[in-house]
Amino acid sequence: MEITFLGTSTTMPSKTRNTTAIHIQHMDNRLLFDCGEGTQRQMMLANLSVFKLSAIFISHLHADHVLGLGGIIQSMAFLGREKELFIFGPPKIKKYIDFYQNWDYFDCPYKITTKEVKDGKVFDDTDYSVSAFEVEHGFPAFGFVFEEKTEINLDKKKLKKLGLEGSPICRELKEKGEIEWRGKQVRLEDIAAPHKLGKKIAYTGDSKPCPNLAKWSKNADLLICDATFSDDLKQKAHDYWHMTVKDAARVAKEADVGKLVLTHFSPRYEDVSELVKEAKAVFKDTVAAEDFMKLVL
Ligand SMILES: [Zn+2]
Ligand SMILES: [Zn+2]
Repeated sequence: MEITFLGTSTTMPSKTRNTTAIHIQHMDNRLLFDCGEGTQRQMMLANLSVFKLSAIFISHLHADHVLGLGGIIQSMAFLGREKELFIFGPPKIKKYIDFYQNWDYFDCPYKITTKEVKDGKVFDDTDYSVSAFEVEHGFPAFGFVFEEKTEINLDKKKLKKLGLEGSPICRELKEKGEIEWRGKQVRLEDIAAPHKLGKKIAYTGDSKPCPNLAKWSKNADLLICDATFSDDLKQKAHDYWHMTVKDAARVAKEADVGKLVLTHFSPRYEDVSELVKEAKAVFKDTVAAEDFMKLVL
């Protein structure tokens, strides 16, 4: 799985940072989280295909998270897309997408399915799922959790011992976690072979500190977090429904995540090394996102 940061600035692009967009490639699945102005050009510079995107998740309807959608929708049409595109976002996302899709001088040749999200699972694919969780940003706004599904193989020796080898009931056991077999309860955890757990990535979107952040980020391998200001502007950060780098680090610590990535920096910070230091004092495994930075999980 590869995560590419396409935009890491708040509000407006700067010379070095575009507005927010994060690309996740997991096997053949290509997902975009937020889509600030100019995202499609950022994707080209990062050698990522706009055409192959499977789904787009929008955290909230501030311009720095959505202005790139119109261009991407039109380019997909120009490139001859036929495959359905899924777009998920807060209330009114449909109204926003309908504007682009039904614009008088544009004939969209592919289907766009737009869904308004609420707390809980919003997309469930064979290999992964994406859930949304509500955050506090002064109006409807969400964070997202990407979870890779764990592939569980069963221990052949144990299956044989139970007389379950090759039985179609094994599928039911994988789905339900427990079955009754020859008058006994058989639990998946008792006959599963050692396996690697699927990875989890949490992305907060824009938010002031709130309980949902740590709750939904719990044990994530990666937390991508709003870190608009340094701690000396804490009051301003909270007044404007954002977080400081220390707030982000506290969420990472409380949720016991593997790694914290700070993003959505105010353009006032040309150099964010001091901000990373502030966060590291609270949560050690912290990095600052830069445009075109890639992480592999
Ligand atoms: Zn923003
Ligand atoms: Zn915002």
